[in-house]
Amino acid sequence: MSSDELYKEVILDHYQDPRNRGQMPDATIANRGHNPLCGDDLMLYLKLDGDTVEAASFEGRGCSISQASASMLTESVEGLSLAEAEHLAEQVRGLMKGQEPDEDLGDIEALSGVRHYPVRVKCATLAWNTLQESLKLYRQRTVRDGALAENGR
Ligand code: ZN
Repeated sequence: MSSDELYKEVILDHYQDPRNRGQMPDATIANRGHNPLCGDDLMLYLKLDGDTVEAASFEGRGCSISQASASMLTESVEGLSLAEAEHLAEQVRGLMKGQEPDEDLGDIEALSGVRHYPVRVKCATLAWNTLQESLKLYRQRTVRDGALAENGR
């Protein structure tokens, strides 16, 4: 099998059998991502335990690449620290620009098969951009809550 065919297989597998699909009522952060170029829309749910991603899930609709990418994301961030999750998102963005990741990214590397199609790159990075934004929102909230706690003392 050529690497191109292998990539398609992996993406199709995640699309047809998405991991961690569904709402998460007790999510710490729920954040929406939208890719107007393609119409991809997703909600990303993260459950955080202190500095660790305890669970991740998503729901939404869109093309196979956006949905497969979200499925891969939820599968790979579980158990990571927030810094590690952030680093992974950076690596995926780099991968889409043709950079070599500094570790084996497993299924995620299949996404690099679309990097020559600029419109599809947005589909592949949507979930990862949403993840980065979620972590940013979480940090802002933590800082704000911390400040509130200070004031309340
Ligand atoms: Zn798309």
